[in-house]
Amino acid sequence: MKKIGFILILIIILPVAFLIFNEIGKLNETEEVLEETYNNQLEAILFSVNQYSDDIVNSWANKIVESRDDELLLQQFVRDNLALEAVVFFKYPENKINEVFVSDRITQFEKTVLNKIDSLINENKTTIERLIEYRKSGYRKFEPLNSANELNYSLLIFSAAAPDEFNELVCFVINSESFAKKILLPRIQQITQNKFLIIVKDNQNQFVVSSDNKTFDGNIEYEKPMWLIPNYKIGIVLLGETIQDLVRERATNNLILITVLLLILLFAVIFVFRAVKKELELAQLKADFVSNVSHELRTPLALISMFAETLELERVKNDEKKKEYYSIISQEANRLGRIVNSILNFAKMEAGKRKFTFEQKNINEVVDNIHQTYSYHLQNKGFKFEKELSSNIPEIKIDTEALSEAIINLIDNAVKYSDNRKEVILKTGVNNNSVFIEVIDKGIGIAAEEQKKIFDKFYRVSSGLIHNVKGTGIGLSLVKQIVEAHKGRIELKSNPGEGSTFRIIIPPIEFSS
Ligand code: ADP
Repeated sequence: MKKIGFILILIIILPVAFLIFNEIGKLNETEEVLEETYNNQLEAILFSVNQYSDDIVNSWANKIVESRDDELLLQQFVRDNLALEAVVFFKYPENKINEVFVSDRITQFEKTVLNKIDSLINENKTTIERLIEYRKSGYRKFEPLNSANELNYSLLIFSAAAPDEFNELVCFVINSESFAKKILLPRIQQITQNKFLIIVKDNQNQFVVSSDNKTFDGNIEYEKPMWLIPNYKIGIVLLGETIQDLVRERATNNLILITVLLLILLFAVIFVFRAVKKELELAQLKADFVSNVSHELRTPLALISMFAETLELERVKNDEKKKEYYSIISQEANRLGRIVNSILNFAKMEAGKRKFTFEQKNINEVVDNIHQTYSYHLQNKGFKFEKELSSNIPEIKIDTEALSEAIINLIDNAVKYSDNRKEVILKTGVNNNSVFIEVIDKGIGIAAEEQKKIFDKFYRVSSGLIHNVKGTGIGLSLVKQIVEAHKGRIELKSNPGEGSTFRIIIPPIEFSS
């Protein structure tokens, strides 16, 4: 059995465990891929916001270049633009501011800002030269002039000149906060559509604006700097469950599933193991049965042939002895007949071919009959054989022959398994409307752990209270089947060394129609 258990574990549990671990590994991989794809998506969204800012500033630049010669139009443009506070024209390589257009919102365009622009232009010569180079190749690029937090404004420079003319450059003075709130906000609200939250923060991590117009101070999943507003960054979070939540939930669900699968498998293995164990035990019992039956048949046969031979050779002169030998032969032949009959009945019952014919009868009659028939036999063997029949027994429907066979089987066992106290009692009575018949002995008794098993076919007690009595192991199984055919049941009370009481209980008459 240990070997079978080991093999079962080897061929079922091991591959499955391997599969499960493999699956868990794959799960992690999928989750990593999922997270990466998700992050790429977030990045793409933030990219599109930056791209949008770029487009806006580009359209401003076009407008400026178009209206370069029309001061009124330029003034008008700056005034109407909600985020643009000033447009400053300067020349390269002189690096001199030559024209400034300021919005009405700043009543007094700060001197400091102009000075700042002046000094920044001088500090960023290489950037400016690069912008001119770009412009010469037909491409207009924007560069922030100020690094983070130097001003409340973002200074963006670009080359406004036509490629073949002298080099005029423009600096946009952008109000960062207005740009975020007035220009970006409608766009990010359109992008997020209540699925995400896009948040603009400054470099100090101070909240500026978010797509749902509410202050946000939670954890931002993904963050990028803003290309054109150097002191601002944009972040994005998933509304509702975060990707980590989703991934964790999926992993938990998968783990639960895997555990359930493992448990089912474990139960299956236990089930198979038990079934195999039972089959093996039955095979062993059948093998024992064959040897037991041979044994059972051999003893009476040997006795019959020995005494028959003795009589045949006329070795016995004494008539009394002869009579004794004849009686032994007849007894042993009867015993043989009983064994063969019980095996045949058992086989019939197993094949479901045994027919029962029920008749209405008082059970006392049957028990009394058996008592009379077996009295002599039992007394001969030195048994005290008594009956205690209840006078108030209702009639029940029984197959007299089958039920007698069951009771005789129990009496047989009582005789076989009695030791010093040779006493057998037949008892009838009524309990809870059911009629019962008891066969009581004061024999060797049956250990508690054996009491259920002895009704199994071929089972014989072989541990604990070992006995040397011969038998086939089908007697009690036959009794049980007969009782069940009467819709009844059999109960056993027994203590090792004190004796046993088998009680056949048959329900009232209504059971068969
Ligand atoms: P068999 O008697 O041929 O072995 P049974 O099915 O009649 O087969 O009984 C099964 C086992 O139950 C017996 O081997 C015996 O160990 C035990 N047994 C049955 N009846 C008694 C009894 N009255 N007292 C003690 N043990 C019993």
